[in-house]
Amino acid sequence: MNVYDSEQIAKGLKALEYHLTSSLETADLIIVNTCAIRAKAEQKAFSFLGRLAAFKKKKPDLIIGMGGCVAQQEGKKILKRLPHLDLVFGTHAIGRLPMHIQRIEKEKCRIVDIEMSEALVEFGSTVTLKPTGKATSFVTIMQGCDNYCTYCVVPYVRGREKSRNPENIIQEIQNLVKSGVREVTLLGQNVNSYGQKEKLCSFPELLQETNKIKGLLRIRFTTSHPKDLSEDLILAFKDIEKLCKHIHLPIQTGSNRILKKMNRKYTRESYLQKIERLRHICPDIAITSDIIVGFPGETEADFKETLDLIKTVEYDNLFSFKYSDRPNAASACFPSKISKQEKNDRLQRLLELQEYFTLKKNKALVGSDQSILIEGSSKKHKAVNADHEWQWMGRTSTNRIVNFSQTNDDTSFNKVPIGQLIKVRIEKAFSHSLWAKPIRIEQKSVGLKGEESYAA
Ligand code: SAH
Ligand code: SF4
Repeated sequence: MNVYDSEQIAKGLKALEYHLTSSLETADLIIVNTCAIRAKAEQKAFSFLGRLAAFKKKKPDLIIGMGGCVAQQEGKKILKRLPHLDLVFGTHAIGRLPMHIQRIEKEKCRIVDIEMSEALVEFGSTVTLKPTGKATSFVTIMQGCDNYCTYCVVPYVRGREKSRNPENIIQEIQNLVKSGVREVTLLGQNVNSYGQKEKLCSFPELLQETNKIKGLLRIRFTTSHPKDLSEDLILAFKDIEKLCKHIHLPIQTGSNRILKKMNRKYTRESYLQKIERLRHICPDIAITSDIIVGFPGETEADFKETLDLIKTVEYDNLFSFKYSDRPNAASACFPSKISKQEKNDRLQRLLELQEYFTLKKNKALVGSDQSILIEGSSKKHKAVNADHEWQWMGRTSTNRIVNFSQTNDDTSFNKVPIGQLIKVRIEKAFSHSLWAKPIRIEQKSVGLKGEESYAA
């Protein structure tokens, strides 16, 4: 979500002639977009912002702004804590950012804008039609959240749930496709409740409309709240051709007692029934999840229920977090906090267990043929290596990272295959990625302009 917001921030500032740079030293404006979901993310943001004081000292005209959830949460306190900051803007102020920057440029003033509006913040029309060289993109379909899970800060820093108009979403995706994007991930805190409050279309209906967009090859979405995962959405994995075979379905804990304290409104049993149904409808679907360890009052027996659930589901991948108190979140006042050491220990045990399943599932793919959408150069091998090979990275429909190489004399590919769907044969499996041999192009890229610069 923050990646999407950062893109909107960059687009808004382009109108003021600010362009992205990868160097802090040469920047005239630094915007730090923050996340408040866990204490660690917040600490990281403050420590990074603190280091920016040295840059301001060297270059007094440098403008430094802090946006996002931590800015929303802490407001004007931040100006006191960080005297080198010019601007603090909250999650609903992104549209007003260019205006604030212009004022700071002119008046050299300091501004705090954490006003939250009832109205939805609409960005779609600012999307560029110019080729970006990017094959994948996020698209926010709704903002905020009404669920109030007791550990979570989101409803306080992002506001109440609001869904965007389907027409604007479709228009934005069409524009992205014109700029070369081939895969979109539709974003919301709980996409299952998309459009319900505003009586727009349902989420499966939005998926059907998205599926019709010419030139778009793949659709993903996140996040789906287990309590609202409907039969229609489960059926979408069979009926909607472009929908990738992957669902992120955060369970948070395997203990019914803790689920209740978290206010998650489903049980371990109802969750497992939905997993069974998903696998019945789409046998090779990949299922991933989020888990919090060390929620207040979590006993060893509760934690063992989580480990047991992981063994039952055999997730394709897991994102696990140590519980941390968040401002305003109800659980911050819950008794029986778990010690840091216990949380570390539980996280370690959970990671070890999941590592086994992730590797097992990856190994099972060796020898199989998979379709992957090429996203860019492989992380480890950015340039041409000694054997004059290009190393590329793409993802399977099930969201597994696949790296492969292409020799310079391999004429079966375009010079740069970003955005192409290709068939590969999986040769090796690692914990976090697969290695493959390309077999054939399944679909040619439709003129991604950023290509030449990539190949240069
Ligand atoms: N809307 C999504 C979650 C968004 S937050 C959902 O309901 O699934 C992403 C993840 O951060 C959560 O799933 C949870 O696992 C984790 N998280 C949220 N608050 C947390 C906290 N206070 N401490 C630790 N992890 C937390
Ligand atoms: Fe937070 Fe729960 Fe909303 Fe997810 S559904 S954003 S965890 S309150």
